[in-house]
Amino acid sequence: MATHCDYLIIGGGSSGAVVARRLAERTSGRIILVEAGKSDEGDPAAVDLTRLDEQTADYDWGFRAAPLAGSPPVLNYARAKLLGGCANHNDCAFIRPPDSDFDEWERLGATGWNAAAMAQYWQRITETIAIETAPCHPASRRFIEAGLELGLEEVDFGREVRPGVGLFPLNAKGRLRQSSSVAYLHPIAALPKHLEVRTRCMANRLIIENGRAAGAETSRGEIRAARAVVLAAGSIQTPQLMMLSGLGPAAQLKDHGIAVIRDMPHLGRHLRDHVAAPVVWETHEQVSGWEICPFEATMMLQLERRAPAPDILFHFGLRVREKYDDARLATKGPAVKASPNVTRAKSEGSVRLSGPAMTDKPEIALNYFDDPSDLGLLAEALKFTRRLGQTKAMQALCRAEVHPGPSVQTDDDWRAYIRSVCETVYHPCCTAAIGRVVTPELKVMGVDGLFIADASVFASLVTVNINAAVMMVAEKAADCILGS
Ligand SMILES: Cc1cc2nc3c(=O)[nH]c(=O)nc-3n(C[C@H](O)[C@H](O)[C@H](O)COP(=O)(O)OP(=O)(O)OC[C@H]3O[C@@H](n4cnc5c(N)ncnc54)[C@H](O)[C@@H]3O)c2cc1C
Repeated sequence: MATHCDYLIIGGGSSGAVVARRLAERTSGRIILVEAGKSDEGDPAAVDLTRLDEQTADYDWGFRAAPLAGSPPVLNYARAKLLGGCANHNDCAFIRPPDSDFDEWERLGATGWNAAAMAQYWQRITETIAIETAPCHPASRRFIEAGLELGLEEVDFGREVRPGVGLFPLNAKGRLRQSSSVAYLHPIAALPKHLEVRTRCMANRLIIENGRAAGAETSRGEIRAARAVVLAAGSIQTPQLMMLSGLGPAAQLKDHGIAVIRDMPHLGRHLRDHVAAPVVWETHEQVSGWEICPFEATMMLQLERRAPAPDILFHFGLRVREKYDDARLATKGPAVKASPNVTRAKSEGSVRLSGPAMTDKPEIALNYFDDPSDLGLLAEALKFTRRLGQTKAMQALCRAEVHPGPSVQTDDDWRAYIRSVCETVYHPCCTAAIGRVVTPELKVMGVDGLFIADASVFASLVTVNINAAVMMVAEKAADCILGS
């Protein structure tokens, strides 16, 4: 027997938790939020940022992605599988995008998404979550001093996004993450009675009847929604679920034996992501003892004079390991790294079905450097990074540059190195973009009662780590769904 509600939200990650809370505050209709993964509440590995490394493989969907056109899928492409989504999986860097990003969205056709209009959503977020910086480790301080030696200014990135060096603002209260599940849903037992959170409940297919989204078939039975179905399964699985339900590129759907309800040629295409590559130095001594997370310091550069905002953003790592060990960056001794990424990388990848079920891991192609300007910018950023390693401040910390090391000197050397070690910052977006798949009111074009509220709808990549922008989208999505 089907369960009935007014609003069904699919995916309890960064965006889904925000939408659920805001709908519950403003309507008395019955809301069900379904999340395929487990609950994060009471799980220190999920909500204590210092215990991130305790998360095991069952916190993740286990996707892999192909970094370069035609390459095999060799990058681990982490996507969280738990309530709170990737915001319980991430390093909590939390920066409001510069105004030029949202003004660009408006220019691309996202009417009503300009920076002035979006300011209210940032305001709502800051009234709900805490944003702090971690205490600065002496090695992070060396990196900041290196930037100052090369002429940059120290910047408070919690207040402004401009070229400079400083600490990451974190969506954290001490060690406790301020993910949207922690800040908007916990304690779950105290949520309003008309909001139900169902964990370990996976949507397998949308129910579309007479051109209208009527609900979803889930691993715990059919759920029917009288008013709206809201997709918040993230930039990879929102397109996957839609395609499995007959919405998507017609030829691809037919290849998997899926009856086409609506041909949506853009769905799953135009995937944008922040691409990075590191310089790694071995240090004189072991670096340890950071208090909250090993990525405390950042730096922004504006290499192109006419760029609207910084075009390079760094993560300075007190260790080389990211979410996963990377054999390409092995070192003999203790090491640190500085990893610049291209903030508005133009290369576009795709998400495609690999089979006809939600459990068939999608094919993710990143196509990094498909747009050659991304490679050029990253090469210039890495040359600057090497200079950082030659400053007095970094020489006091580091013994030698080990990746790429002295054999890399010419532009061609740098470009080959970057292609061999490029890494993701885990920021996929734009796979169901406003103007291509959804209207500026976030309605899926051509299907009634179906909204998308997650990073898929970005009109273009934003300059900074994307989670703050995802939550701003979700805050606005609640307004769109309620029609205000
Ligand atoms: C390792 C890592 C580090 C990162 N670091 C940062 C950082 O420091 N700062 C920053 O700003 N951003 C960071 N990000 C990115 C940021 O966390 C994400 O962009 C953001 O969380 C995306 O939000 P979302 O709501 O679109 O998707 P998600 O948060 O991924 O939520 C999607 C949810 O939907 C669920 N789901 C999927 N399919 C189904 C289904 N069929 N049925 C039910 N549920 C389903 C998933 O389990 C998941 O919980 C990082 C990401 C990763 C992976």
